[in-house]
Parts: sequence; structure tokens; C-alpha cells
Amino acid sequence: MRLNTAKSIDMAASEFELIRHYFSHLGKQREWLSVGIGDDAAVITPPAGQQLLISVDTLNVGIHFPAQSSAEDIGYKALAVNLSDIAAMGGDPQWFTLALSLPSADEEWLTLFCQGLGELVERYQLCLVGGDTTRGPLSITIQIAGTIPTGQALTRTGAQVGDDIYVTGTLGDATAGLLVCNDELHATESDSRYFLNKLNRPVPRVAIGVGLRGLANACIDVSDGLAADLGHIVQDSGVGAELLMETLPVSASLRAQGLADGRLQEIILFGGDDYELCFTASPQQHMAIQELSHSCDVPITRIGTVIEEHGLYALEHEQRAPMPAKGFDHFQQE
Ligand code: ADP
Ligand code: MG
Repeated sequence: MRLNTAKSIDMAASEFELIRHYFSHLGKQREWLSVGIGDDAAVITPPAGQQLLISVDTLNVGIHFPAQSSAEDIGYKALAVNLSDIAAMGGDPQWFTLALSLPSADEEWLTLFCQGLGELVERYQLCLVGGDTTRGPLSITIQIAGTIPTGQALTRTGAQVGDDIYVTGTLGDATAGLLVCNDELHATESDSRYFLNKLNRPVPRVAIGVGLRGLANACIDVSDGLAADLGHIVQDSGVGAELLMETLPVSASLRAQGLADGRLQEIILFGGDDYELCFTASPQQHMAIQELSHSCDVPITRIGTVIEEHGLYALEHEQRAPMPAKGFDHFQQE
């Protein structure tokens, strides 16, 4: 749709051709795809017995990634954060659309962007079914669709009093990466590389999400920080949570920074962008969760318990203190 008739808001026709050239190979033919890239809309036949999971996320330059980020990292991360939402629901990612706002049709940039994006397209056998391309400040919007057997989606509303709370991987590394970018953390070269990789190349926990079907009672991906995202689970489930502070998983690299306890805790609890999964499950599922951790080769750590009393609480040195369910909020007033 075009409200303004000025041609400048859209790419010139030849540039459209160019962009379609870059993206058409990511839309390989599938049996469920009747019409893909090139028509006014894609035509898809969803698989029988499955429900569709639909999610959309935008990445804006200067907000979701630093202006100096490589095109390859931007392409990777734009898709990774969307895959993470499908993982958090326990789904199998299937197809996506891509809305790109670009300052110019820079071939080198587009090639690298496609490489980063393409890495995840290959890994998860995804299909790009359409999109939109306009000229403007750099912004990438991806809408992703996944499938899940009917009734099995993992939501934020199912946490039960007495459930164990778990988190995958480690927390705070992406925030450390941002601090390195901003020159606020001076780590060794190898630790810096580790943190930046966690920030720019989060690994969506798709296999774990699928493995949690029938095991987890509630699940969310940690995009805005553990406190904020676990806060969504407890609020939407009408329960509370007690976190065992000593058990929160921290990488060796983050530990090695020698941060003061309070600073480290702040990063772990309130720092965003880790894209790990936080979920709750009955204590009876403990063994099954250990096995899932083994088979996916990703640590899954028990970090607390779901309680009746509403809100979040930190348990440390046998002391219990309320914790704000805050995190990264784009519209928060300073
Ligand atoms: P329309 O004016 O009907 O929206 P467009 O000229 O915007 O059509 O797009 C033409 C075709 O190219 C459509 O099938 C659209 O889905 C596809 N397309 C445009 N931009 C992209 C993109 N960035 N990624 C994938 N497909 C795209
Ligand atoms: Mg269009």
C-alpha cells in the first residue's frame, strides 16, 4: 500500500528485481507451498492436525543492534529472535516473511545479510514465502510461522504451585557483549569475542522447545531479562516465584570479569537478549529434563520454585527478598 505517491519511499523497480534475486533462493518449493515469492500473497496449506504459531519481531538500527553491526550478524539475529519465539511455544519453525527497510540497495550489504539469514534458513530448513522492501532507515521485520500438534503449545499461563523453575544455557553474556561494544567492560580478547558472539549470534533453543512438549507447564524465551520474563509467567499464571540466587547459571567468562556481586546479579537478572528458555515443570519431570539437556547438549539448570504468593522473590544466604519484575522496556521513562 502506498499513501504517498512519491517514488522515493519505495525502491526503484530494478532494485526490486535485485532484492528478489537475493531472496528468492531462500524460498525453495515445499509440498505445503502452492504460491511463494512473486505473487501478491503466498498460498500455504497448513499440515493437518497441527496448529499454526505466528510471531513477528522488528530489529531497528541503534536500538536492537549497534549501528556498526555487520550485515551478516544483523541477518542472523533478525531470524534468530523470531525462531526463539517459536521455540518458546514448543513449535517447529516452518516459514517466514521479511519486510526490509533499507537506506540503499547495497549489494555487498545484501550478500552478507543473506549469508547470516541463510545460515539459520539452512539449519532449520525454513522457507521465505514473501516480504516487502522499502527505502528508509535500516529496519528488519520478520514474521515467522511454526507448527505444533493441536493443543500442545507451551504458554505463559500454565505454571503450577510447586513446579520447579528452569533456565537453559547461561544468563547475562549478551549484556556483557553490549557492555563490551559500549566500551564499558574491558575483557580479554577471547572473553570479548565470546560475549559479542552471544550478543550477535544467539542460538534459538528450538530442539529444547520441541522436547519440552508435554513436560513443561509454562515456557517463555528470555529476551528482556530473566526477572521480566519470569515475571510474565508468574503474572499470567496467577502465581509467584522464588529464585535460588546461588544457582543462576553464569558462564566462566562472565565470572572471570570480577564484577561486584550486586553488578553481576543486576546483569544476570535484568539484562536482556540472551534468548534462553525459562520454563516451569512438575518435580516429577526432573529426570526427563536432565535427559533433554543431555540429548540437546545444552545445560538446563533448576533455579527456583513456583509459589502461591504473587511476585518474584530472591533467596540468598537463607534470606528472602522481593525482586522487581523489571527488564528492558523500550518505552520506560528514565
Ligand atoms: P506488492 O506491491 O504486491 O506488495 P511487491 O512489489 O512489494 O508486491 O513484492 C513483489 C513480490 O516480491 C511479492 O511476492 C513479495 O512477497 C516479494 N518480496 C518483496 N520484498 C521481499 C523481501 N524483502 N523478501 C522476500 N520477498 C519479497
Ligand atoms: Mg509490497
